[in-house]
Amino acid sequence: MQTLKNYINGELVEPIGKTYIDNYNPAIGKVYSLIPDSDERDVELATQAALKAFPVWSNTPKGERSAVLIKISELITKNLERLAIAESMDNGKPVALAKLVDIPRAASNFHFYATGILHYASQSYAMEDTAINYSLRNPVGVAGCISPWNLPLYLFTWKIAPALASGNCVVAKPSEITPMTAFLLSELCIEAGLPKGVLNIVHGYGHKVGAAISAHPQIPLISFTGGTNTGAEIARVAAPMFKKLSLELGGKNPNIIFADCDYENALKTTLNSSFANQGQICLCGSRIFVEKSIYEKFKKDFTDRVKKMKVGNPVDPESRLGAVVSKPHMDKVLSYVELAKQEGGTVLCGGYQVKPEGEFANGYYIAPTVIQGLAYNCRTNMEEIFGPVVTIMPFETEEEVMIFANITQYGLASILWTENLTRAHRMANNLHSGIVWINCWLLRDLRTPFGGVKNSGVGREGGFEAFDFFTEPKNVCIKLK
Ligand code: NAD
Repeated sequence: MQTLKNYINGELVEPIGKTYIDNYNPAIGKVYSLIPDSDERDVELATQAALKAFPVWSNTPKGERSAVLIKISELITKNLERLAIAESMDNGKPVALAKLVDIPRAASNFHFYATGILHYASQSYAMEDTAINYSLRNPVGVAGCISPWNLPLYLFTWKIAPALASGNCVVAKPSEITPMTAFLLSELCIEAGLPKGVLNIVHGYGHKVGAAISAHPQIPLISFTGGTNTGAEIARVAAPMFKKLSLELGGKNPNIIFADCDYENALKTTLNSSFANQGQICLCGSRIFVEKSIYEKFKKDFTDRVKKMKVGNPVDPESRLGAVVSKPHMDKVLSYVELAKQEGGTVLCGGYQVKPEGEFANGYYIAPTVIQGLAYNCRTNMEEIFGPVVTIMPFETEEEVMIFANITQYGLASILWTENLTRAHRMANNLHSGIVWINCWLLRDLRTPFGGVKNSGVGREGGFEAFDFFTEPKNVCIKLK
């Protein structure tokens, strides 16, 4: 059985405590590797390595930093197949999805920020002939990056790449539920020649390693993606230390479908926006609102297609859904189906654990589930489920659906289907979310600001916003006479 190691000061090392956590393959429900159960001593080693590397790395010319990061990007692409299989085995997602989305995006993250930093400039303000102001944008020092299990390498690199490109050194923690591709990344960083201590990866539990990163006095910046409660806990610890925080948190996104939409496109895309990655994407549209005049037809066409989605072996290219990430998560998702029934909902399809044949019978599979008949403000419609479960509800007017859409504590993404241009712009302006997709879903341009409002988070990732976050502006004012 493979035993993973931490990546500290350029080397793969055992955790100081020499204890390990079981790592499960959710497709078969079995332990297949061991993860370091690191603690604050390992975080301390990593932080000291990062501090030591910082003066040289931050003063390395941008072009040289860029070249190493591009090399990492190329190595990710070269190892696409191996990384995709590893991601699937760790997370349960279809290999085809990891090959198409997760791993190429991890390579793009490095490439995008490695080249982006070469174009990042700061402002200058001339006060006529009195003075000139200009801003310097300096890296903050050691950045703490903490990521979740749903898009493991994709989200891990989305933080690390801009942090490193802008001259910071990093102490990073992947999710203890899906650590494998972060471990493989540490091997690729060594192969690419990333200098010692620039990136340090410490594996282990959130309440130990994550908490130690959040509380470390020499880590002045935390970039976190994960659940809203964890984000609140990190803010509680980090805010009194005046750390810079970027928190990308949960969502409960509305998918609003008007009768005048491009019907086939809306239907086809809604299958993806509901169930891609087993519904475990923070951007999935988990509340589907359909205009009353097409509600019955859409509901029937949608559930007919959902019933045909194959659930099972993630390696099988026919599988549209693989396993959800863990047994506790499967139990949590299924408990929401029970809650929905108690709240008066009717399960139109799915709602149960699937047991594929052979070794997969012990995996954590859930049939894609559609529920109708719920109040727009019941718990099932207000709380994040983060699995292959969507609710479907009719609406009569734009005003009504705006109330339904904006009611939750979350505000990450909204999806809107209409061919009415004025309505689309009007609603986009009034939806409480950081991202609005009109007649599409998950179409991503890495230059755009990414993040949520309300309890979906604080701050924005993406493009130059990420460089703004990972650097501190300093204004210099020169008097001219
Ligand atoms: P989680 O909050 O349980 O864990 C995220 C990370 O935080 C893990 O690495 C975990 O070990 C660590 N952690 C846990 N407790 C900690 C603590 N006290 N201090 C510091 N770190 C700690 O989230 P998860 O279950 O891994 O991921 C699912 C959640 O992530 C969902 O709510 C989903 O919506 C959210 N998410 C948000 C985005 C976004 O961009 N907004 C993207 C993906 C996932």
